Amino acid sequence: MATENPFAPKPGLKIYLDGKLLSPAEAKVSVFDHGLLYGDGVFEGMRVYSGHVFKLDAHIVRLHDSAKAIRLTLPMTHGQIADAVNQTVKANGIVDGYVRLVVTRGVGTLGLSIVRTADPSVFVIADQIELYPRELYENGMAVITSSVIRNHPNAVSPRVKSLNYLNNILAKIEALDAGVLEAIMFNHTGYVAEATGDNVFTVHRGEVLTPRSSDGALEGITRAVVIELLQKRSIPLRETKMTRHDLYIADECFMTGSAAEVVPVTQIDNRPIGDATPGPITRQVMKDFAEYVRTAPA
Ligand code: PMP
Repeated sequence: MATENPFAPKPGLKIYLDGKLLSPAEAKVSVFDHGLLYGDGVFEGMRVYSGHVFKLDAHIVRLHDSAKAIRLTLPMTHGQIADAVNQTVKANGIVDGYVRLVVTRGVGTLGLSIVRTADPSVFVIADQIELYPRELYENGMAVITSSVIRNHPNAVSPRVKSLNYLNNILAKIEALDAGVLEAIMFNHTGYVAEATGDNVFTVHRGEVLTPRSSDGALEGITRAVVIELLQKRSIPLRETKMTRHDLYIADECFMTGSAAEVVPVTQIDNRPIGDATPGPITRQVMKDFAEYVRTAPA
């Protein structure tokens, strides 16, 4: 008999799957779904604050762009997807939490051909998430730089949020093996792209730096909010190419993502960043972001 999985979903969860709200035991996709067979599909990860899905429209637009890039026609309109997400959040009584929205290519015959698939599946999971321990938000996090480079933009573009995350997972394994929780990845030309699930920012002599999405980063929705918050405070920001050396000599570093929110980085490859505590701009951004998510319209 199989032993009980300690990571099994809570049995009370209600999962949206193709128009129905189902229990985790009922919410099943087929072993013939190309999302499973080939990682053929797209997804979004979103935060819920005070019962509202943060930046829901922006997430659905990005989902649409990801789907378009891989020639997947979403089986629902923007409004229907928004309704499905909101319905799932409500059904699970989520006030502050996390939502995963997934679209798979659907069931098909064996073989890569998208022509031999039908009916993409859409599912939504709403639950709690704690990506990193709370304590790291106060004291900062240690990360490594990964030997695994980010996908070449002419392979699967890092701007596509696809179900094929092995590139990032290999870098994450390297981080975990090194005893840290995140890894910063470089692109094929040697410049900083992003972390395995977060965008990267540094501060250098009062100026905030971050790679462009064309350097191999997802166009993060948290990243865009942070850029807006920096602009509001007239803190200088530059999207630029960054090397490993730029990381090592940064005064401050932080990462952004829907699940991570804004997390300070205080050590990279065993080198302290600044004085190895979250710096003043990082703390300001974290404070402004926390305020923004409580007060900003969707
Ligand atoms: N980069 C990668 C590879 C990601 O998976 C994510 C999302 N977890 C991000 C960056 C951050 O994007 P967002 O702020 O939209 O969540």
